[in-house]
Amino acid sequence: MRHKASQKEWDEFDAWAFCRLGGVVRHSDVGFEFPRLREDPTILSFEVQHWEVSGHMNAKGESVLKLQGQFNADFACVACGLGVPDSIPFTRFLILKKSEAEADAYDDEALDEDTDVVACPGAIQLRDFLEDELLLACPMFPRHDHCRPQQEADTSAGEAANPNESAPTEVQRPFANLGDLLKAGKK
Ligand SMILES: [Zn+2]
Repeated sequence: MRHKASQKEWDEFDAWAFCRLGGVVRHSDVGFEFPRLREDPTILSFEVQHWEVSGHMNAKGESVLKLQGQFNADFACVACGLGVPDSIPFTRFLILKKSEAEADAYDDEALDEDTDVVACPGAIQLRDFLEDELLLACPMFPRHDHCRPQQEADTSAGEAANPNESAPTEVQRPFANLGDLLKAGKK
């Protein structure tokens, strides 16, 4: 079922009803922007390939939002700062609870790494939930496979030493001029 709605519906998204009704919404239904990704200095560029949010009730009668998708991005390498291209899939199940207290009290020891419990006392901003997952899926320390920061550090140390080495050359220049003066004196 194609889910048509105004922007307001996504900003005040009724996740509870969505789960109860088994709703599905996809990237082709709404063009979300992700400003927190765009403004993140460690994400040089990104393109969300696809995403899908679906809702269901689990066997325990809990409301569960499932967020999944894939995006391509260039992450700033922690060693050299240049882009590390990556394609990141993400999948998250969010068990909804009516309050922070309920969410905190939830025994999440038994949950797998793809599942979280969130307080959802009222309407949510669906875009924010998606954006959270995109940001969580980003690598903590992106780095080129063959990046050698130690060598680069040595090279830059050598460059830093160069100005000192060139200083004596500056001092010697008056002597070169002296040669010209002597030549001039012979005339
Ligand atoms: Zn690098």
